[in-house]
Amino acid sequence: MLATDELDEAWRVMKMFEDDRFNFRLADFPAECRQHSAGERAKSYRDLLRQVEELAGTFAVVKIGSAHGHELVKLVSRSPAEAIPVCLVAGIHGDEQDGILAALDFGRRFVQDTYRLTIYPCVNPTGYERMTRENVNGKDLNREFFRASGEEEVRIMERELSSQEFIGFIGGHSDYESFGLYAYATGAVLSERLAKPALFQASGIIPINTDPVIDGHPATDGIIQEKFPGSLGPLTKGTMEPFEITIETPNLFALRKRVEAQALAFETILQEYRAVSSEAMYL
Ligand SMILES: [Zn+2]
Repeated sequence: MLATDELDEAWRVMKMFEDDRFNFRLADFPAECRQHSAGERAKSYRDLLRQVEELAGTFAVVKIGSAHGHELVKLVSRSPAEAIPVCLVAGIHGDEQDGILAALDFGRRFVQDTYRLTIYPCVNPTGYERMTRENVNGKDLNREFFRASGEEEVRIMERELSSQEFIGFIGGHSDYESFGLYAYATGAVLSERLAKPALFQASGIIPINTDPVIDGHPATDGIIQEKFPGSLGPLTKGTMEPFEITIETPNLFALRKRVEAQALAFETILQEYRAVSSEAMYL
């Protein structure tokens, strides 16, 4: 599957050159590269759902609503009642497969003891199929949250977030401008404490972006502590502010490596949270 996904990535990146997103044009590339941009290409959301269904067993696969003729689903781990509820959200930008594949990868390895993990594997099915950041209406869904958006995907996710209480929120994205791995750590103060080791572990696969400004935000050792207005995140309902971490992997690296790095970051965040909360018990 990943081999096809890598070819999709090659097509998508070449398409960005074709669309004049960069200084170089498609014509500047040798013919062997240009052939990757030939024709039209689309991904199949139905095939993705098939991969999601394969996780039924460890997880319950639950339909959460329909947008543009596509059924949005979540995976909820069959964990004990006292398990800690966390959620993992991916695929809000349709041209960023990293989070989707990493979430599924992590789901396959997930052991349902400490956490009740809810995975939203693909929030933007029409963007996924078209390999575009925006949905079929041309909307960047990650700027539409909590501002009375009419986009169906946004309303479905807002309903999800307001009806549940997660102690942690993890997002998976990718970035075509960054040369390294980085993270948004917002929400609870704890977020930074969890994001640091996650980046450190994943830096064995992809180096950290150490620029002082990343994606327009001030950053320290690959960690940004601001967020874009309208971006998808947890809803605080009074008792405890959830941690909120978004892992960003750079497009420059092979998809396989990006997925591996991102899944390792997700795993490290949850390991660290467990360590921090058991420390807190003895304070
Ligand atoms: Zn993104």
